[in-house]
Amino acid sequence: MDKMTCPYYKKCGACNYLDLDYEEQLKKKYSYVNKLLKPFGKVEAVVGMHYPYYYRNKVHAVFDRDRRGNIIAGIYEEESHKVVNVEECLLEDKRASAIIKTIRDMLKSFKITVYNEKSGYGLLRHVLIRTGHVSGQILVTLVLTSPILPSKNNFVKALLKVHPDITSVVININDKKTTMVLGERNILLYGKGYIEDTLCGKTFRISPNSFYQINSAQTEKLYAKAIEYAALTGKETVLDAYCGIGTIGMVAADKAKRVIGVELNKAAVADAKVNAKLNKCNNIQFYQGDAGKFIEEMAERGEKLDVVMMDPPRSGSSKEFLDAIIKMKPSKVVYISCNPETLAEDLRYITKNGYRMEIATPYDLFCHTRHVEVVCSLNRGN
Ligand code: SAH
Repeated sequence: MDKMTCPYYKKCGACNYLDLDYEEQLKKKYSYVNKLLKPFGKVEAVVGMHYPYYYRNKVHAVFDRDRRGNIIAGIYEEESHKVVNVEECLLEDKRASAIIKTIRDMLKSFKITVYNEKSGYGLLRHVLIRTGHVSGQILVTLVLTSPILPSKNNFVKALLKVHPDITSVVININDKKTTMVLGERNILLYGKGYIEDTLCGKTFRISPNSFYQINSAQTEKLYAKAIEYAALTGKETVLDAYCGIGTIGMVAADKAKRVIGVELNKAAVADAKVNAKLNKCNNIQFYQGDAGKFIEEMAERGEKLDVVMMDPPRSGSSKEFLDAIIKMKPSKVVYISCNPETLAEDLRYITKNGYRMEIATPYDLFCHTRHVEVVCSLNRGN
């Protein structure tokens, strides 16, 4: 495959490995993961992407002004809050990049100001676009400091005229001095307020505030491996911890007796409950709350789990969560991680307390960046 180049590579903080051949990137990621996980068990080769470009189904643009006062939209520089004006990105879904450019060029005529991080003035902070890999649905979220968007109906009309494939437009209000992109409140401007997409043969509703893996093609492979590692026979009670909108649990539910999902984010839990109905999945229940607290309470009630599938955020799991696993003794734990460092820490603890890592497989979900996802299989017994 011919290597692609990007004029922003040196400045932009999104890619770290674009100057390496893709095979080299995979090797580099393998040696990083292997170094961390080798003490616990075998690490398979990194599963790469057939065509590692334009894979991001969630595209985030930050808005600012350049020195001459022109409105710019793009990506932060590495470890900085300086914005690089990006005309084209090799990672982003092309439809999303085009919409961002259109919005950037529309702002002046609609007298929409852009937010200034230092002064705190200005209306538009970010634009977030979600595209359905299979469905083709497109959700545009305008992150504003106030609920009032000047001539909002005309703005949406003008945007849809250029991009008739947009299926929904939402305002998200973020009026806090924060590095978090999204605030909690959404106002619907057009369409349903979410997208639906298909993953592993199931339908999922995804709202602006819910987590969803950004590389759908690779996620399907990752989840298939997670299900393989879970080795379900139809008799098991499974916990899908840190479940988001219920993706992993819903796929596991076909092969298990019962699945319980737990997730902290309220919007994601609401999506997960709808998703269970959409997929006519009757053996799954979702709960909102902290995964550690939830499983600890299950352990205290003396409940039984056969398999735990867990997919915590970058910070990893909690001691509370791992202690409850150690207490409940599920025969299998399938751990999905987007941060091999915290995964290794959690493995260090759990492998001293009755579990053994059988095998781990890294997946390249974040091609050209330094990030890598890992799924690993843990069994009881030393
Ligand atoms: N399994 C899902 C989501 C994984 S991302 C998927 O593959 O799509 C990690 C998820 O953990 C996010 O949805 C986040 O909201 C959730 N989360 C973060 N801290 C949590 C906690 N303490 N307890 C439960 N869920 C948490």
